[in-house]
Amino acid sequence: MDKHEVIIIGGGPAGLTAGVYTSRMGLKSHLVERGLFGGQMVNATLIENYPGFPKGISGLDLASLMHEQAGKYGLGVSTADVTGIQPGQPYRVVTTEQTLEAEAVIVAAGSQYRRLEVPGEERLVGRGISYCATCDGPLFAGEEVAVIGGGDTAITDALELTQHALKVSLVHRRDQLRASQVLRERALAHPRMAFIWDTVVEEVVGDRMVQGLKLRNVKTGQISTLEVAGVFVAVGLTPNSQPFKGLLNMTETGHVVADELLATSVPGIFAAGDIRRNSPRQISAAVGDGATAALSAFKYLRG
Ligand code: NAP
Repeated sequence: MDKHEVIIIGGGPAGLTAGVYTSRMGLKSHLVERGLFGGQMVNATLIENYPGFPKGISGLDLASLMHEQAGKYGLGVSTADVTGIQPGQPYRVVTTEQTLEAEAVIVAAGSQYRRLEVPGEERLVGRGISYCATCDGPLFAGEEVAVIGGGDTAITDALELTQHALKVSLVHRRDQLRASQVLRERALAHPRMAFIWDTVVEEVVGDRMVQGLKLRNVKTGQISTLEVAGVFVAVGLTPNSQPFKGLLNMTETGHVVADELLATSVPGIFAAGDIRRNSPRQISAAVGDGATAALSAFKYLRG
């Protein structure tokens, strides 16, 4: 069994930053990621609020730079899904490929797209329903599409989709957008965007492919249909904390509870990035968390 001083779970900005710090501080470190290095940010066409890049940088480019930097100081990496942590000293991090031993663990497993959980959604994923405008937007050139949600992701996605689609209808359950002011203003002024307020999706309609949405106005109860070829769901994120349930203290929403040094309820296990309670869910905040968790792990191991 491979023995390490620190195992980092997750290769998004929090995990990769933690990897830069722990390996650079001389800790024998290993990072496990189940998908693409970079996490959620790889889906962003242009990141405009990460310091150091005044012209913006694509998510893929930023992810690849962070990955390259993490490898520079000898961080080991592997691709596998972590299924749990067995308590004890050392901890055993169980993955779909192998079990790894470590004296400290940094949990930076991030979050994933929340589903609408309405009829038709599961059946039509990849057949007109998408959770990634950057990935699938070009498939809807010249078509009408809908975006569900009112946060930064929904508005960023909707604006991106206006580059391909004929018309973008934003369906939001309230009559005010949660998104930041600069994004709100851009969207509200866009000639090819329409807004359907106070409305939720009852059903995604379509046989083999998406044909439209059945909508319900939450104030009047009125049911209507919206014909669209594509539906982009952007209703927030849920933490990837399932494998740690029962071991780490969590909130009702499944976010890991950690103190200001990012120590969890279990000594030697730290939480960083989107997975922790009260995370601002920004790349720059995740980077800060990665550094803090790494320094805390170093202190825990070396005193
Ligand atoms: P979010 O901020 O949690 O917004 C989720 C949106 O979906 C909200 O408008 C919410 O409505 C709506 N919603 C939630 N559940 C719903 C349901 N079941 N049915 C219909 N609507 C539902 O999530 P996000 O937009 O993915 O953003 C996540 C984090 O990433 C945020 O911190 C955000 O600032 C950050 N982010 C930043 C940028 C950027 O800075 N450019 C870009 C993307 C994401 P209510 O408003 O009524 O709650």
